Amino acid sequence: MVYIGIDLGATNIAVGVVSEDGKILYQKEAPTKAERQWQPVVRDMAAISMSALSEAGYDLDDLKAVGMGVPGICVDGAIPFCTNLGWHDVPIERAFREYIDKPLFVDNDATVAGLAEAVSGVSASVSNSVFLTLGTGVGGGIILNKKPYSGSHGVGSELGHMTILADGEMCTCGKRGCLERYASATAMIRMGIEAMREHPQSELFTLTEGDPSRMTAKIVIDAAKAGDSAAREIFDIYIKYLSLGINTVISFIDPEMIVLGGGVSRAGAFLLDAVRNELPKYIFFRTMPYASVELARLGNEAGIIGAAMLGRD
Ligand SMILES: [Zn+2]
Repeated sequence: MVYIGIDLGATNIAVGVVSEDGKILYQKEAPTKAERQWQPVVRDMAAISMSALSEAGYDLDDLKAVGMGVPGICVDGAIPFCTNLGWHDVPIERAFREYIDKPLFVDNDATVAGLAEAVSGVSASVSNSVFLTLGTGVGGGIILNKKPYSGSHGVGSELGHMTILADGEMCTCGKRGCLERYASATAMIRMGIEAMREHPQSELFTLTEGDPSRMTAKIVIDAAKAGDSAAREIFDIYIKYLSLGINTVISFIDPEMIVLGGGVSRAGAFLLDAVRNELPKYIFFRTMPYASVELARLGNEAGIIGAAMLGRD
């Protein structure tokens, strides 16, 4: 038997035929064209799935389940909201199963990526792990006993929106002071632009030629690595809030491993060493063992693999 994993993003729909042990056997993708209504997007996801299945040499009798990772949440077979796609109250399960009548499992994209790492990535050796994606926002995926956990109301793994600073920066969710306002790539860019204006002699100014629209998280990290003091200050603030967020996760869940993924995690050992160094400051009972912090391994494939594995028993 095989599984279909669908990674629904604002830009692309990526579909893979995946084996029982989490290997991608075949994959294809198409643009989401997110400006459309949800109905043609769902129709396209089903059509790409069917053609991927047959091009991989399988038919519906070989298909055990379909899994889908979405940039939003799913409760009782419906997606109440999916901001990047402009979706509200989409009855995804009913709509998709009109095309492919197989069990459908839908979950948040960060949860799905965390599950993929737990099946065939860095956290495969542990039962309980928490994945944090450090990208445009901060997403969270909680894996307990090798299964995704999304809480009692579907929002248990929205770790990017834990309040980390009372009355802090305004967040896209409407609250203030959310973790993702301080620990996302977007946060690093915001702080980079502020620092560039204050310190025109810094590398941040040189590398962007003074143009705020050219600021990226990579520029901040590269300048910090090169020893630029303004960039290093931002990086240290970033690491402080990220570590505070990780500490809160550890306090509540006490997982075996915290996995860092997303664009900022491409900073590699520079990021990892800084977090491992900062985190003990906040840990309660630090003489006891606590979660190791590791980098994600699967990259872009995680979305497909994790989605497919939602349907595995
Ligand atoms: Zn928020």
